[in-house]
Amino acid sequence: MKKKLIAGNWKMNGSLAANTALLEQLHIGMPVAPCLVAVCVPAAYLHQVAAAVKPVGAIAVGAQDVSAFDSGAYTGEISAAMLRDLGVRYAIVGHSERRQYHGESDALVATKAQKALACGVTPIVCVGETLEEREAGKTVDVVKRQLAAVIHANGHCISEIVVAYEPVWAIGTGKTATPEQAQEVHAVLRGQLAAATPHADRVHILYGGSMNAANAQQLLAQKDIDGGLVGGASLKAADFLTIITAAS
Ligand code: PGA
Repeated sequence: MKKKLIAGNWKMNGSLAANTALLEQLHIGMPVAPCLVAVCVPAAYLHQVAAAVKPVGAIAVGAQDVSAFDSGAYTGEISAAMLRDLGVRYAIVGHSERRQYHGESDALVATKAQKALACGVTPIVCVGETLEEREAGKTVDVVKRQLAAVIHANGHCISEIVVAYEPVWAIGTGKTATPEQAQEVHAVLRGQLAAATPHADRVHILYGGSMNAANAQQLLAQKDIDGGLVGGASLKAADFLTIITAAS
């Protein structure tokens, strides 16, 4: 059985001092045989965090976005090659906050995933429906459309991605999908991957959206939930460690 993956998404939080303190606490409290663990940190801190986690080797570093371009006149962008150069292992792509506030389309997200894969950075592809879409019975259509774009652009490499199902209504709201609601969507995503690759079982499908120390265990017990993408609770060492322990 594959190890589960717990990835923290720090979003736009942290400081040099706070990051050092949080990583120290995580290293001290890490279980002996942990699951796969990553922290996706603001670009400004990738270098700092990569240097801090390297000697211990228990935590991988992720970015929260990656450019859809390779290099050149794209002010403000960070390329997949630069991430690789910094020792970054994962890059979140298509987080709902980027889709919402930065107008990222399914096609752009698919290109970003492609650029990451081409440089050996694993894209964590986020999909998820809004409350309005769920209430209109469109959840499956929405997540399948979002994932289809990434499958279409990445062909046989698709088994190399990580998928994160993050219902938008559950992100940062304290409202978590029930384990059954999450499993239902995860099973749909697994089926969609299986139609595209014989290696769909290898793909980590993470749940994200108010995962916390209290609900992680039940969510992680579901058949197709291979880990979590954790926002708020990843900023508190004790909570993040409880989630890691539940997954280990
Ligand atoms: P949350 O965020 O755990 O704070 O809901 C998850 C995410 O947005 O990745």
